[in-house]
Amino acid sequence: MDSLTYYNKSIAHAEKGSEARAIAYANRSMVCLRLELYKECLVNIRLARESNCPERLVEKLDRREAMATDKPNSSLLMPREDVKLKLSYKCHANVPQMAECLELRRNAEFGRHVVTNRKLMAGDVVMIEEPFAAKLRDDYRFSWCAHCFDWNPFTLIPCEGCTVTMYCSEECLSKAHQQYHRYECAVVRDVSRMSAKRDECGLGLHTVAKAIGLFDHDLEAMKEHLNGLDESKVDAFTMDWRTATPIDVYNTVYVLSTNQALRRRKDLTMQIFFATIIHQLMLERTELGSICATSAEKNKILFDLILRHWQISQINGIRMFHLLNSHETDLQHHAFTQFSLSTFFDLVGVHVMYCY
Ligand SMILES: [Zn+2]
Ligand SMILES: [Zn+2]
Repeated sequence: MDSLTYYNKSIAHAEKGSEARAIAYANRSMVCLRLELYKECLVNIRLARESNCPERLVEKLDRREAMATDKPNSSLLMPREDVKLKLSYKCHANVPQMAECLELRRNAEFGRHVVTNRKLMAGDVVMIEEPFAAKLRDDYRFSWCAHCFDWNPFTLIPCEGCTVTMYCSEECLSKAHQQYHRYECAVVRDVSRMSAKRDECGLGLHTVAKAIGLFDHDLEAMKEHLNGLDESKVDAFTMDWRTATPIDVYNTVYVLSTNQALRRRKDLTMQIFFATIIHQLMLERTELGSICATSAEKNKILFDLILRHWQISQINGIRMFHLLNSHETDLQHHAFTQFSLSTFFDLVGVHVMYCY
């Protein structure tokens, strides 16, 4: 598995159509052949040929192709029985992903917090929620798809822009670019190097990028929406999720606590410093530069969003874990995520997934 990760890094760092990338694909085809993943082996042979495959590899690839063609795959990547979670109690009338026994309360001691109006047992399932935004940790970027979070290090293809993002398919690559990655691609590698808080900072940036995509990439519409939003009326626990739009869901993330007033001056100064750099990089390197060039207000809202979602991620981000296989008990932390509802629990998310 380690060799695959290194080959994937080579693929992500090599230039499109280069001999180096063809060699990495060819090497990955060999790993797949050894693991009897013949379908994946053939995919890598095709990818190597489509890159600038050196003459000396042509015969090897032909031989590998003959060995892999029409062979049944090993069971390594067979779909495993999914763990189907089900709520342990009747769901909330407006929030189908949450048990009706949960309520959001507010008081001076705890601020906003969740209570249950019935006794719960260990192991009860009271919430099944998809994150609004999720960001792979650096170590997992070369073995998981950054869009659908599928674990498949055998056929990942790279984003051509940032060298640190890979996808399981052209479809995921194209959806990610269209929906959000176009705003983070040119910045994401620098973000992961500029701060010890890179998970939170990266999730904040990712949330901003996703939010802009939700407004059809129209910062003016986003600005008007946020300026007109009555934050006191946004409540994820009473909102009707059955009819909620993606923007309604974003509202519930936007109003999460930033703890701005409670932050130490040094902490706040560092965040403003790094947010200023990220803002500048986004203006210089993405299409947001020309969009904000003619409007100081749009420029300001972009900066405010970067800082706000960084702070929200710091307070409300949830670590996501997975299981390596069905016999493992050690949870592996692979992603950092932003939820609307689960953020009110003091917990970590568990993405139950068997990888190998
Ligand atoms: Zn995918
Ligand atoms: Zn990229």
